[in-house]
Amino acid sequence: MKIAILSRNSKLYSTTRLVEAGEARGHEVRVIDTLKCYMDITSTKPAIWYKGEKLEGFDAVIPRIGASITSYGMAVIRQFEMMGVFCLTESVALGRSRDKLRALQLLSRKDIGMPITGFAHFLDNTKDLIKLVGGAPLVVKLLEGTQGRGVVLAETAKAAESVIDAFRELRADFLVQEFIKEAGGSDVRCLVIGNKVVAAMERTAQAGEFRSNLHRGGSAQLTKLTPLERKTAISAAQTLGLRVSGVDILRAERGPLVMEVNSSPGLEGIEKATHKDVAGSIIEFIEANAKPNQTRTKGK
Ligand code: ADP
Ligand code: GLU
Repeated sequence: MKIAILSRNSKLYSTTRLVEAGEARGHEVRVIDTLKCYMDITSTKPAIWYKGEKLEGFDAVIPRIGASITSYGMAVIRQFEMMGVFCLTESVALGRSRDKLRALQLLSRKDIGMPITGFAHFLDNTKDLIKLVGGAPLVVKLLEGTQGRGVVLAETAKAAESVIDAFRELRADFLVQEFIKEAGGSDVRCLVIGNKVVAAMERTAQAGEFRSNLHRGGSAQLTKLTPLERKTAISAAQTLGLRVSGVDILRAERGPLVMEVNSSPGLEGIEKATHKDVAGSIIEFIEANAKPNQTRTKGK
């Protein structure tokens, strides 16, 4: 097969591993810089150009789109979709996962556990929003944040009010969420491919920190999922229409709660913690599923 990886940097761990895994299985794999793709959308035959060359003959595209270029990345994926090329992560699914609010709204329609979450744009009274999610302690999250930046724990109602008021002053979009204390600074990253969880790791925050992101100094180890955790991760991925995703779950007393679904999950942390060949599984999934004109999520 001829496979394109949309990535800004061919030296990134995840990109390198996908190239290796594809080539090891006899495929032609090319890394294409998402931002250097340009498109002719006026002609009747959609095309993508790259450094003076028309991109043709691809059987599959693996989008690895960073959060900062989501919008252009979606346009490039959409163009491949218009051309009938199989895109592992579809443009609509990427858009859903990148908008935390939209993702949570979609998940809330299904029977998937989630922390109680509130959001607002204009508030007469900040206390009403705090009451909505059950009072302090609570977590306030900037909608645009990644890697744990913009996630704040407010331990008291007073602190919560100040944080919310500060975000409002800044005109930043945020959500307010029940703090799952019993998770103890840990969460679980489930790597879902198709309808299977192929690897799972528990991440634990460093001392004095509640955010378990590896970028925030958290550590990771292999974990065994309960059947309900497995089912929850797969339903969350499928609800957003993602064929490959990293579903983050908090282990709460009332069961697994989905915090977020990542559409370009990093492979380094999870491959190292679990010793699983996740890149190889992604390529195998493409071998079994990539057919032309397969875009499933459309315009919503
Ligand atoms: P980001 O998308 O920036 O990584 P997250 O929403 O995943 O932000 O939050 C970062 C970390 O903070 C999570 O991995 C988790 O450890 C912790 N966390 C987030 N929300 C909650 C919550 N409601 N209760 C307890 N811990 C939380
Ligand atoms: N690569 C990051 C992660 O999996 C974020 C991906 C995204 O924003 O979809 O944690």
